[in-house]
Amino acid sequence: MIDIGNKNQWKELLLTKDEKILEELYASAREIQKEHYGNKIFARGLIEFTNYCKNDCYYCGIRRSNREACRYRLTKEQIMSCCDSGYELGFRTFVLQGGEDGFYTDERLVDIVKTIKTAYPECAVTLSVGEKSRESYQKYYDAGADRFLLRHETANPDHYRILHPEEMSCENRKRCLWDLKEIGYQVGAGIMVGSPGQTVDHILEDLEFMKELEPDMVGIGPFLPHHATPFANESAGTVDMTVRILAITRHLLPKVLLPATTALGTLDPVGREKGVLAGANVVMPNLSPENVRENYLLYDNKLCTGSEAAEGLKILRNTMEKIGYEISLDRGDRAGREVRTWH
Ligand code: SAH
Repeated sequence: MIDIGNKNQWKELLLTKDEKILEELYASAREIQKEHYGNKIFARGLIEFTNYCKNDCYYCGIRRSNREACRYRLTKEQIMSCCDSGYELGFRTFVLQGGEDGFYTDERLVDIVKTIKTAYPECAVTLSVGEKSRESYQKYYDAGADRFLLRHETANPDHYRILHPEEMSCENRKRCLWDLKEIGYQVGAGIMVGSPGQTVDHILEDLEFMKELEPDMVGIGPFLPHHATPFANESAGTVDMTVRILAITRHLLPKVLLPATTALGTLDPVGREKGVLAGANVVMPNLSPENVRENYLLYDNKLCTGSEAAEGLKILRNTMEKIGYEISLDRGDRAGREVRTWH
């Protein structure tokens, strides 16, 4: 079993050129994953419901200053129809992700969450709608939202400043995560790997922050440049570094729900498989209507624009079977976690 006790060892694992050590790291990450989740990989139905955003993050293709972006938002009826077809396919988790779009007031979001939970009380609803006040988070929770994804992006305030304009802060992002956790959500933090200005020491700080926060989910994907952002000419993160961090995270948070991200699959045609073989256990296929998918472009060449939800699921099942895993469409809550019943 690989020794992963302290920061120095994390650093060695991030830097080592010894393939044997890395193989051992991945094998033991898989073992930990199997212990808690068997050979199941949970699939979540992702609904990208708006690409309007009031923020101006330097890395993100849907930042407000990107005039090229073709903006869209889905109506409640359109969102419900995504859920309906997802439910038919067997999905029991719906992830609503979007830019920070003022059109979706607390009232509208609450209404959307309630409508989904009324139609499908046995399904989990995950929100990923950015930074809000604690009161707003509480309202969505009371409406039935179960989980919340909010990557912290970087735990280091100086690095945070390189990635975001003045009006955003690392401190507020972390405050949001602590609020979400206290309210009772299953919480997801996470980072982009290889984002501009990121150092190995920053990654160590991220790992330390996540160890302290103990999130239920961690989203880790490579940074990929988008041509219409200030980071257009920056280089992308690597598959190698991403899978190392996935495997270390699996060791630090053994029961964590850890997606093999779309960004990883975009960077490498077998990226998601590599992620799973390094301890990831979640995939998030797209349930958004096909005609809007090509507009939710956080980065260039995003994977999967085009293939229909049912088709996408079939492909995923096959890919995972080939490496000895099985797609599960169950709610897939974090192992050992108490879950509210909803009626
Ligand atoms: N507005 C929501 C959703 C953001 S998009 C929020 O603030 O949480 C979801 C994630 O995509 C972001 O947290 C970021 O980590 C990732 N992302 C954005 N631009 C990216 C890029 N260029 N490359 C890779 N990942 C990116």
